Amino acid sequence: MTIQSASGQSPQDHGVSLDQIYRARRRIDGQVCRTPLTRSQVLSERFGAEIYLKLETQQPTGAFKLRGATNMIAALIERHGRDALAAGVTTASTGNHGRAVAYAASRLGVPAVICVSHLVPDNKVAAIEALGATARRVGASQDEAFEEAARLVAEEGMTLIPPFDDALIAAGQGTIGVELLEDQPELDRVFIGLSGGGLLGGVGAALKAIRPGIQVTGVSLSAGAAMFESLHAGQPVAVEEVESLGDSLGGGIGLDNCCTFALVREVMDDHFQVSELAIAEAMVDILKYEKILVEGAAVVGLAAIAEHQLDIRGQRIALVISGNGVALETLDRARQLVAAGKV
Ligand SMILES: *Cc1c(COP(=O)(O)O)cnc(C)c1O
Repeated sequence: MTIQSASGQSPQDHGVSLDQIYRARRRIDGQVCRTPLTRSQVLSERFGAEIYLKLETQQPTGAFKLRGATNMIAALIERHGRDALAAGVTTASTGNHGRAVAYAASRLGVPAVICVSHLVPDNKVAAIEALGATARRVGASQDEAFEEAARLVAEEGMTLIPPFDDALIAAGQGTIGVELLEDQPELDRVFIGLSGGGLLGGVGAALKAIRPGIQVTGVSLSAGAAMFESLHAGQPVAVEEVESLGDSLGGGIGLDNCCTFALVREVMDDHFQVSELAIAEAMVDILKYEKILVEGAAVVGLAAIAEHQLDIRGQRIALVISGNGVALETLDRARQLVAAGKV
């Protein structure tokens, strides 16, 4: 299924301008990895195109979310001074965002409390603490962990670092777009995983501002794709979450979404959903041919090209390989799916 972008307005209208993205780039310089863009020989031959991989798997926390978190914390220090963050920053995430906030805060000398529910396994909690943050266990669900983060903000003066819905977060992720065009100025199309839209919104804003004719393609899960459903509905809607190999693409976009819904609608040209089997095949292919460990969310672009048999012959294509936060059991599940050839 495909959605065409509704308007031709400029991305500046939603508070993520190219200038903000360049500012983000200066702030995060030296704090995060300027990741390589490598050409895939196997994929280029298979699809008759020039296919490049943007390896966010090489970030010290294993995913691009470090860019947004670092930009936001550094910008707040810049604007309000270090004392304003003395109470610390907080969020509720055990995945890539939680690790990013833990690492970024520690690098920038700000205390961080990551709220997690009692359901979260000990090894994930230990991983967050190893990055220099305090993990606070509360409640029996992700929602209750989030309520605790909100309480820390309201009662203890902490600052919330949201996972996607903020202009500073999106601008941080947008630095990927600048790097893509520095390394390959003539890209025709970029495939970007889409969940809350901080990644696609930021990267898309940068790409469209620098190279207006470029095609920005979003890819979501086939079930529980909140942004996809919201774009169809014309407003943010809630969806039921389902387990997926691409678990980093799950979760809602917030019914009170203030930034990324409008931004994505503006900068995205078309949009696909991919099945679990297509994700599994893409994970195994990237591991087998590129020797890169990836999580499901990182390979949905490849999954979309293969599953929807997109005609990309002769084009210069970049796939944002967004992260490597995958458990070995999940990798096993992907391999079994591919072996069985069905869901
Ligand atoms: C968060 C995440 C995404 C999606 O980013 P959004 O800004 O929520 O759209 C994609 N891939 C990985 C690995 C992620 O952690």
